[in-house]
Amino acid sequence: MDFDLSFEHQTLRDSARRFVENELPRNKVLKWVSDKEEPPRELFTKMAELGVYNFLMPPEYSGLDQTDPIGLVVFVQELARASPAICTIYGRSAVILGPTIAALGTKAQKDAIVPNIIDGKYVMALGLTEPDAGSDAASIKTKAVEQPDGSFLINGSKQYTTQIASADWLILIARSDPDKEKHEGLTAFLIENPGKHPNIEHHRLDTMGLSVAPTYTVSIKDLKVTPDQILGERGKGWQAVLRSLDMERLYHGAIGVGASQFIVDEVVDYLNQRIAFGRPLARQQAIRHKLVDMQMSIDAARLMTYRAAAKLAAGQECHREASMAKLSGAETYMRVANTGLQLMGGYGYCVESGMPMHFTDAKLFEIGGGAMEIQRNIIAKEMGL
Ligand SMILES: Cc1cc2nc3c(=O)[nH]c(=O)nc-3n(C[C@H](O)[C@H](O)[C@H](O)COP(=O)(O)OP(=O)(O)OC[C@H]3O[C@@H](n4cnc5c(N)ncnc54)[C@H](O)[C@@H]3O)c2cc1C
Repeated sequence: MDFDLSFEHQTLRDSARRFVENELPRNKVLKWVSDKEEPPRELFTKMAELGVYNFLMPPEYSGLDQTDPIGLVVFVQELARASPAICTIYGRSAVILGPTIAALGTKAQKDAIVPNIIDGKYVMALGLTEPDAGSDAASIKTKAVEQPDGSFLINGSKQYTTQIASADWLILIARSDPDKEKHEGLTAFLIENPGKHPNIEHHRLDTMGLSVAPTYTVSIKDLKVTPDQILGERGKGWQAVLRSLDMERLYHGAIGVGASQFIVDEVVDYLNQRIAFGRPLARQQAIRHKLVDMQMSIDAARLMTYRAAAKLAAGQECHREASMAKLSGAETYMRVANTGLQLMGGYGYCVESGMPMHFTDAKLFEIGGGAMEIQRNIIAKEMGL
């Protein structure tokens, strides 16, 4: 058992940290947050030069001998120090949808999309959740009805479709075979430029955090798609969704760990300098104990995240470990954001400290991509309960 990063992963961590320091200074990120603006595309093309869209891609696209979930965890922890929301934009392309298209797409689909994802050029959106299908995601009602010419006509509503307005591609999950069992009648479709499509209407939701990755309600009316837009096989849409779930949980865990570590580092610096009652606040035992507890939770979450990454790297099944990584990363992040803000006092309440952004972003990771209760249900099942 080796708890040290390899030389390559240490080098990756160092270049990722330099990238974050140079390209994502706090004032720049906080301006996007207050303007509720997506970051410019150049950020992601520059990020791609680090090779970070390759981690989960097959060798013919990535040039890697094998996928690298540990590299993913190393990189995401660094990016999360600047912005967990930007991590989600990156992750939807690099972790969830890009590798799914690389695995299930036709040659034409792959050639059109995957190289552009690897170059950081494409933003991707996922239309899975619906007003009546959230945690119970397979209860999708959006219908894809086959037409006599072999095309499909799609009608329905989606909820929380993040970045649909600016996305280059949308993976839309719809019910194509209503007579089949719940999970078997779904198909995944690829839609180019969904935000500009005349048959897709979207309205931005006002969310408490994650404002640089806006999310939308979506209404789809008589959207015609052809069979060459099916991703994978008809009726196998649920399997397409399942493919990336463990990786999504893993990278959510890494976001929680990286953002939490950033908060503790900031709070330690601040309290070492902040004098009250004649000495630095960091000398107060009650405060020191809180910081120790925060750091222990982060270390535990980090170990769980690397454990899941190591199992995924070895090609082993790891539903339980991936859910634990997500659960511990997200819950640690929420607790650390709350306590960290408190320990900074009035400064923590000011936007410029960065703490309000973390406080509001943290909550998303306890809800999105499978809420904490659902992760506990998965772990319980894996425990034989
Ligand atoms: C900002 C944001 C961005 C998002 N982006 C996307 C996106 O890009 N694409 C997409 O498809 N989806 C997206 N989502 C949707 C997200 O994945 C869902 O919100 C999430 O899966 C929870 O579903 P829900 O909101 O419908 O909650 P519900 O399913 O209504 O759950 C409500 C509460 O009940 C709990 N609960 C539900 N079932 C159980 C159970 N069996 N046992 C115990 N507790 C239970 C839940 O954990 C939750 O606390 C996004 C959501 C948000 C908030």
